[in-house]
Amino acid sequence: MSENLPIVQHWINGAISESKSGRTAPVFDPALGKQTKSVALADQAEIDATIAAAQAAFPAWRDLSLAKRQTIVFKFRELLAGRSRELAEIITSEHGKVVSDAAGEVARGLEVVDLATGFPHLIKGGYSSNVSTGVDVYSIKQPLGVVGIISPFNFPAMVPLWFFPIAIAAGNTVILKPSEKDPSAALWLAELWKEAGLPDGVFNVLQGDKLAVDGLLNAPEVRSISFVGSTPIAQYIYETAAKNGKRVQALGGAKNHMLVLPDADLDLVADSAINAGFGSAGERCMAVSVLLAVEPVADDLIEKITERISKLRIGDGRREPDMGPLVTEAHRDKVAGYIEIAEQDGAKVVVDGRGIEVDGEADGFWLGPTLLDNVPTTSRAYTEEIFGPVLSVVRVQSYEEGVELINSGQFGNGTAIFTNDGGAARRFQTEIQVGMIGINVPIPVPVAYYSFGGWKDSLFGANKAYGPAGFDFFTQEKAITSRWLDPSHGGINLGFPQN
Ligand code: NAD
Repeated sequence: MSENLPIVQHWINGAISESKSGRTAPVFDPALGKQTKSVALADQAEIDATIAAAQAAFPAWRDLSLAKRQTIVFKFRELLAGRSRELAEIITSEHGKVVSDAAGEVARGLEVVDLATGFPHLIKGGYSSNVSTGVDVYSIKQPLGVVGIISPFNFPAMVPLWFFPIAIAAGNTVILKPSEKDPSAALWLAELWKEAGLPDGVFNVLQGDKLAVDGLLNAPEVRSISFVGSTPIAQYIYETAAKNGKRVQALGGAKNHMLVLPDADLDLVADSAINAGFGSAGERCMAVSVLLAVEPVADDLIEKITERISKLRIGDGRREPDMGPLVTEAHRDKVAGYIEIAEQDGAKVVVDGRGIEVDGEADGFWLGPTLLDNVPTTSRAYTEEIFGPVLSVVRVQSYEEGVELINSGQFGNGTAIFTNDGGAARRFQTEIQVGMIGINVPIPVPVAYYSFGGWKDSLFGANKAYGPAGFDFFTQEKAITSRWLDPSHGGINLGFPQN
């Protein structure tokens, strides 16, 4: 059956490049529950060809004036803003999320393009005149060369957009290896760059699996790797890239808690828990998956959340329900498996998303919003990332107990506190071992001019995504000490230079 389906190809050197590898993976429409395309999986020859194209394009792109580079980035920004709906529909057809949510993903990615348009200001060096008599010191920031980006399925546009606008603006050439589950958004973005006037070879898309990833990791010409995905792969990427002498930013998985103090506005908490727990079917790295309710609020909160869940519409993302399907059948089954695990471990299933009615094809990869109460903190349903529409309530007796639970976990991506007590919120922001914190805000994804990244197993190393950290990552600094000859200076002095 799959023989007649379209194959999503590579984009190399400014054009579609048909794969000859003979290897493909299926791409599904999750709301229909059937394969609609295949995606090419690169072999070594295709990996080499992509790297060669990016390398060949680098010197001319690096040397193009900032003004000319900036014109292209502005044009790309205009095109993306004008045609974002097209991209959102592509995302929905392969990922499953609701079209308006996909448009939101594009809008958040666009913020990074906005930031990148101002890149000349952000890649300036410094200058100190006369550090010693007649000696000046200054720094310049240069691009790295060919940079690799490896992205996850859950944000096929936004996550690549965290990196490549900055990388390209700063003068690098890019190879993007998208998730094989939803590979088409990357190709659409490549065509947009072409239309914006980007020279061929500056932005390339290499479709593939582990072979393509390892190809990028092992190629000396690839100077850096930007990775977002699950924790075990993030760790592998971090270690392998570092061993091979590359710069690396490696963002991993998450288990985000929302701590609710008894003085919080419980209606706001319930709305926020629904939005952050079930938006994009819980397949967001910043989704809230655990609600830590400081007693005595848990019963009231569960009632409010249950009532709201009963009004949610689940269905085909093209019909604008509240929530769409999960990305694949295997992932849906894995997520549903966690409900079983929680139940076996003694949790109460308050709302069961298995076998729900949907506005869509019966074969779609459905799982409705699920609410669990009294989830034991020893259960795998609590300790592991579920990455689906499953919200666990854990009851605690105090602020301290809540903070202790959050800080003892494996991950440290995002967290939120809900309270009307400013002192408690302030204590929380100091004491919590997490990289991104919301105060009465459930999904605290920083705006583009800050940087995105978690702590602990949610980010390996020290390099965060976008914002100032993004410009640092995609440039390397040179410090230059210069003296123009002055006949009055000279002579021999073998001592260490001093001021
Ligand atoms: P994944 O780790 O399975 O895949 C991510 C990328 O790695 C894909 O491009 C994939 O092709 C590649 N890959 C997969 N297995 C590999 C292997 N063995 N060797 C080399 N490369 C491999 O992740 P996913 O399922 O696509 O995405 C969901 C995960 O991403 C979740 O854990 C989520 O929390 C995380 N995520 C994190 C952030 C963040 O900012 N921290 C953002 C989005 C998603």
